[in-house]
Amino acid sequence: MEKTELGNTGILVTPVGMGVLTMGASQLNLSLEEGAGLIRYAYDRGIRFFDTAQYYDCYHYLREAFRGIDTSRNNPERPVICSKSLTATYEGMEEAVLEALRDLGLESIDLFLLHEVRHDPDFEIRGGAWKCLQDMKQEGLIGAIGVSTHHVDVTERMAEEPACDAVFALTNYAGLGIRKGSGAGSAPEMERAVRSCLEAGKGVFAMKAFGGGNLSADYRRALDYVRDLGVHSIMVGLGKREEADRLIQYAEGTLPDSYAPDVSGKRIRIDQSDCEGCGACLSRCPNHAISWNENGLADVDHQICLTCGYCAPVCPVRAIIMW
Ligand code: SF4
Ligand code: SF4
Repeated sequence: MEKTELGNTGILVTPVGMGVLTMGASQLNLSLEEGAGLIRYAYDRGIRFFDTAQYYDCYHYLREAFRGIDTSRNNPERPVICSKSLTATYEGMEEAVLEALRDLGLESIDLFLLHEVRHDPDFEIRGGAWKCLQDMKQEGLIGAIGVSTHHVDVTERMAEEPACDAVFALTNYAGLGIRKGSGAGSAPEMERAVRSCLEAGKGVFAMKAFGGGNLSADYRRALDYVRDLGVHSIMVGLGKREEADRLIQYAEGTLPDSYAPDVSGKRIRIDQSDCEGCGACLSRCPNHAISWNENGLADVDHQICLTCGYCAPVCPVRAIIMW
């Protein structure tokens, strides 16, 4: 698969990447063998860009998958790994990066990000963690640094941030999950922000092209939209080998025009670690399929849910995914 430089980082990435959250305990909960096998399958078929995070608790899969592969940064065929941390402090970030290096078995990591920068003050609040990333990059422990975000304003801001090398931004044609300040943002607003980053020479890669699974039926349209923004890579969470095959076919231009994914088995799922209990989905569901569970968080009754997907767009934190 042809690779492209991630902005001005000098790091070469494939046009599609594999997110590993999907296989972790919060979602498919694959065994070490299954998860590592899936990652290695994707690598052997050409994918060279992998996304994880301290919070995902998935480093063991990657380490096992890449056993026997030269992961040093002077191997052009190495798997490029991106990780990130939610921490705000200098010490917390230092610990997070060292943990990633240790648990992934790496001497240095290509990309490390502030995970999920939520709004403008959030970047300032996490100034200690940001300074730590700059220092660790200087020491050669990290190749490039940046942020992951669902926010238009944060993405815009990163175009102006000299120390930021790369932005991992949420974007999809329907605008699902895009935020701006404390409210909803739109796809056109995120498009403009992404373009500003690209013009500023930042590496840009995209998440949630399928809007948490809600746009999966429009497989090609969803990916085309993001690719046509000019991003350097599209990161997709993969849970099965067929999904990897399909994504690689798309990237290589061999996906049949007639391809239509079977989404009939899809289910709505509420990520309990993301739900903030705001209640918006309960009000939105026309079938009263969502109720509070014993933890005061939202849960779906699959006997009633019609997988219409109406609830997903109203969730301010993208906790509702179609799976
Ligand atoms: S998918 Fe539709 S029916 Fe199911 S919980 Fe969401 S709004 Fe309700
Ligand atoms: S809309 Fe999202 S955050 Fe609010 S209760 Fe539903 S799942 Fe939780």
